[in-house]
Amino acid sequence: MGGHVVAIGASHAGVQFVAALRELGHDGPITLIGEEVAWPYQRPPLSKAFMAGSTAPDNMALRGPDFFDMSGIVTRLGIAVRAIDRARQQVVLSDGETVDYDALLLATGTRPRPWPGGPMPEGVFALRSLGDAACLRTAAEHASGPVVIVGGGYIGLELAATLRGKGGHDVTVVEAAPRLLARAASSDLSALVARRHAEAGVRLRTDVGVTEIDARDGKVVAVRLNDGSVLPAALVVLGIGVVPNQELAMEAGLPCENGIIVDRQCQTLDPAIFAAGDCTLHPNRFAGGMIRLECVQNAHDQARTAAAVLMGQEASYDTVPWFWSDQFGMKLQTAGLVEGSVRSVPRGAPEGGRGAFYHFGPDGCLKAVETVNMPAEHMLARKLLAAGVSPPADQIADPGHDLRGLLSKPL
Ligand code: NAP
Repeated sequence: MGGHVVAIGASHAGVQFVAALRELGHDGPITLIGEEVAWPYQRPPLSKAFMAGSTAPDNMALRGPDFFDMSGIVTRLGIAVRAIDRARQQVVLSDGETVDYDALLLATGTRPRPWPGGPMPEGVFALRSLGDAACLRTAAEHASGPVVIVGGGYIGLELAATLRGKGGHDVTVVEAAPRLLARAASSDLSALVARRHAEAGVRLRTDVGVTEIDARDGKVVAVRLNDGSVLPAALVVLGIGVVPNQELAMEAGLPCENGIIVDRQCQTLDPAIFAAGDCTLHPNRFAGGMIRLECVQNAHDQARTAAAVLMGQEASYDTVPWFWSDQFGMKLQTAGLVEGSVRSVPRGAPEGGRGAFYHFGPDGCLKAVETVNMPAEHMLARKLLAAGVSPPADQIADPGHDLRGLLSKPL
């Protein structure tokens, strides 16, 4: 495949894809198009180290200008793609220019779910981009009243930990579901996280939603909850989930359903168009069906798969999903998908700050492992899940038992 390859989206998936193409020997032209002006950067630090002021954008580069120059990859940053003309194999840029492609990758990611109440007053923020994070950090430095975080998912909790822990703010997290991290974590881990946040002085309100944001003179002053209570707020952060950027694909006639639908080769219905990352709905054996995953691992691995397939290799996406988060000194890591598990077995002392929860499905097979400050156990869990090995409960419960012996190959 020596033709022109174009990638739309210059974040984790798009950058990994163009880098992998060169690694695998593609010697034709490659163009990477991204809407943000900034050079591609890592997103995970935005809610943690960058927000805390302990890292700068220079340390967050995914790949710098030198890499693209040396690899002969053309970057078009600060420009949006407005349409895909599949018949002509062209993308149409926001300035009207067209770019021909022989193969196209959609790595368009997600955007924060819009607040249903319409335009936001000053002092209300969402977080997705470096620009969002810089504005929020500056506002937090100047905020002299309480901070309300709407949503107790990873965004909300990482920001709560940073703004409370490093910034010393008065922080309340409001979560509509009955528990924190309801979409991403087990009830065991939710309870542990809730306790740690409460100990650190974060106020937690679960099972109650924010319905309105009150402003005075154009500035936020409070949020209203659906139980009738009102929380004063000098700063509000919305961590209420994300929606996939699938409109380009839909308008081009590609099937979408909570994401751009791709197969195991990361191919859409159109053999010349691939998609990777948060924007895809894809078959996943660890989910037992189609799923849209919002994590760096998926962006990275789908991008590599798409590049390999494009280079004519027999490749398919089949990787254990994994996630991580850092909050109040806890390194939380999840291997596999917790959803659908019916039984959990603790290992070590997760409550004490070092341990794990092993989760099993109704068939008795291991589905996911959540670890607290145990990176080596997390790596082992990924290998156990990939190999389809389900450790017996008594061996898990015995922290002295070395589970590595369950894998046929030495680690
Ligand atoms: P999320 O995981 O979908 O959590 C959002 C939460 O907000 C949901 O539990 C939602 O409840 C709740 N919510 C929605 N509207 C609400 C309201 N009006 N009042 C109170 N609660 C409300 O999404 P997120 O935390 O915003 O994260 C966005 C994305 O960034 C996700 O893809 C996440 O995985 C990713 N991210 C990942 C990491 C990591 O892996 N460490 C870190 C940061 C961000 P309902 O479900 O009931 O609507």
